[in-house]
Amino acid sequence: MKKLFVFLAAFALVFSSSRMQAQVSESPEWATRIKAEGLSRSQVEEIAQYITDFSGSRLTASRQKRRADSLIVAKLGEFGLSNPRAAFASEFTRGGWDVVKTYAAMTSPYYCAFAVNPRAWSGSTDGLVKGECIIFDVQAKEDLEKYRGKVAGKILLLPSTREVEINFEPLATRYDEKELEALMEDNRAEARPRFGGGRGMPFDYRAYMELRQLMADFYKAEKPLCIVNGSGTFNIPGSSGVNYRAGDPEPIPEIALPVEDLGRMVRLIQKGQKVEMEMELINRFSDDCEVHNIYAEIPGTDPKLKDEIVLIGAHFDSWHGGTGAADNGSGCIVMVEAMRILKELGFKPKRTIRLALWGGEEQGLFGSRGYLNQYLYNDGKKLPGFDKFALYLNMDNGSGRFRGIYLERNDGAVPFFEAWMKNIESLGFKYLSPRTTGGTDHVAFTRVGLPAYQFIQDELEYFRTYHSVMDTYERLSMSDLKIDATIVAWLVACAANDPGRIPVNPAVNLNQ
Ligand SMILES: [Zn+2]
Repeated sequence: MKKLFVFLAAFALVFSSSRMQAQVSESPEWATRIKAEGLSRSQVEEIAQYITDFSGSRLTASRQKRRADSLIVAKLGEFGLSNPRAAFASEFTRGGWDVVKTYAAMTSPYYCAFAVNPRAWSGSTDGLVKGECIIFDVQAKEDLEKYRGKVAGKILLLPSTREVEINFEPLATRYDEKELEALMEDNRAEARPRFGGGRGMPFDYRAYMELRQLMADFYKAEKPLCIVNGSGTFNIPGSSGVNYRAGDPEPIPEIALPVEDLGRMVRLIQKGQKVEMEMELINRFSDDCEVHNIYAEIPGTDPKLKDEIVLIGAHFDSWHGGTGAADNGSGCIVMVEAMRILKELGFKPKRTIRLALWGGEEQGLFGSRGYLNQYLYNDGKKLPGFDKFALYLNMDNGSGRFRGIYLERNDGAVPFFEAWMKNIESLGFKYLSPRTTGGTDHVAFTRVGLPAYQFIQDELEYFRTYHSVMDTYERLSMSDLKIDATIVAWLVACAANDPGRIPVNPAVNLNQ
């Protein structure tokens, strides 16, 4: 009888700790402390400068990324967080690539130096080289043949298809109430290709990728001096990469010029002018084929709950132009500051709080997927970490203020966030959208139904500046970041100590 009673009591306890218990917010006393530390004694400016100006750009597997990894690990240690470390997350076949020197100018019909960005994983020139520019207009594979045998030693200008018109939209925006209300509507009845959202491809992606490969083969065989792409506007070149596998011969040099500079040269050639450029591009390849994540913790203190993980994170890698400030220095700044706030206040979580700064997001969620496969779910099977996973909060939409959160079509998350948001509504965090959002690291976890979320965030000037050399410290709104870090610290405090846990999304069928 006694045994049975103990069994039933234990059963009731286990059951109540997962689903049945009412969701509770941390005490208002902690809300007040967290707000005071996050809003009045914030370190976001210090952390922001450290991640952007001090670290520079952080391209996946580059030497500069490794340097930034060491810098941020040291900073996490200074904040007193437990076990700060860089750790292997996944293989990365492209290997490392760093810019050593970049120079490009038009020299005929007159001299004009350009703001220029090499495409990542493209090759170097043989010192300072000079050549004639020709228009290389390839829209389909048949077009390639008309250039065969005619491009050796030439600089190929790929005309931009982008239309540049006067833009009457504001440079930066915030959500208005009407837009936010619209996000609160459940859109599950709308046709979507599959769970997890995903925008439909606006063009034939497979044909596009096939043509890109044919063009790469053509460059290798025909040996032009350099390929010039149009990417970025307002005389700011964009950042992107070429396909490359570590150990292959170095690709032909490729650069991105702003569409205005490229457009000028294309128009001159179309009018019969001879256009020449000179350039010197030195890029360094390395056979470092690993993606690393950065971790640090505040250990849990409850004997029963300390093995459960409340995870917060953002991707630390960036493209190579600029300093990856909005994309995604901002996410890292907020998550690091949220950890600092809780540590500084001596908050003792029941569950363990873990910070993860992912690598390899820009080339395909390598860091977060690596974590999933190492600890949570791999090869169609749950790993021990799966049932210990309490929550993941991700940030990757620039520097704007949080207005709410996307609940990824998991109705079970609603009562938790409703309880937790009570003490942060005064910071403008009011909107729980049932919708999904995609394109970044939380997707690695939502795909297997785990409770992982991205915030509804004011856009500011994100889409004008991200993936360009303009993505620097100046793109950060410190007041927005302070609020965001305070909100994260509070939500994490609630999730770490709530008697219940957000259930795994029951609509995700892992056996499919
Ligand atoms: Zn990003």
